[in-house]
Amino acid sequence: MILSDQHMHSSFSTDSQSDPRLLLDTAISRGLTSITITDHMDCEWPEDNTQYIFDEKEYFDVLGKLRADYSGRIDLGIGMEFGFRNEADIVEKIDKRFNELKVLPFDFIIGSTHLYDYGDPYYPKFWEGHNAYRRLMQYYEATLFNVEHYDSYDVYGHLDYAARYVPADTHIEPTRFLNIIEVILKKIIEDGHGLEINTKNLNKGFSVPNPSPTILKMYRAMGGEIITVGSDAHKSEHVGGCFDKARDILLDCGFKHYAVFRAHKPEFYEL
Ligand SMILES: [Zn+2]
Ligand SMILES: [Zn+2]
Repeated sequence: MILSDQHMHSSFSTDSQSDPRLLLDTAISRGLTSITITDHMDCEWPEDNTQYIFDEKEYFDVLGKLRADYSGRIDLGIGMEFGFRNEADIVEKIDKRFNELKVLPFDFIIGSTHLYDYGDPYYPKFWEGHNAYRRLMQYYEATLFNVEHYDSYDVYGHLDYAARYVPADTHIEPTRFLNIIEVILKKIIEDGHGLEINTKNLNKGFSVPNPSPTILKMYRAMGGEIITVGSDAHKSEHVGGCFDKARDILLDCGFKHYAVFRAHKPEFYEL
């Protein structure tokens, strides 16, 4: 059984209103023994750089206090989901901010590619006027840059994030991206980092998580062992959502354990 949810957002994230206490209470009611809150840190958000960032001092104050309050009932990890970027004119700023933050006592850092070419694939505008195949390939190229450029993250988040949002009227054969995905995975494994299985899509009723089982299998076959499980909940009711299904998928992909990070060290638990 999976008893730890390692990816969720509280009201420290621009796109979540969840009181962190509610996340903890929900996790306890669902029998989880630990969670990690991983709020968004997406510096230099296009058009409004005050979005998707939090004040780290306040963050550690509030979550540190909650960790003590809930001690003995559930173990709270303090994490963040840091958005890596490859646009040439802002890489330096992102580097500076990441270097300031990574030395703070986070338990867990998820590295994610949310933005490419100043846009988020979540929005139709990202795809408009572009060849969808080329655009998705560029997204993976940005991710490859990110895994080569940044260190000090623990796992890479929802590796095929952009593939979720390819316009519905376009069919792109997922196998066309496997070569570049293999190069990305190789770098992640070589550097001693891990991957997450993100159940947000399963919670939404889709049949596959992010990344897809094809990618999870490939990672495992290449020797990848570190896998965390995260609901990516932005609302408390999604905490721990579809973890039974995630377990089945992980077992089917050849995993026997999942990892829980504390102080950036993975501890392994039987699935
Ligand atoms: Zn994300
Ligand atoms: Zn997230």
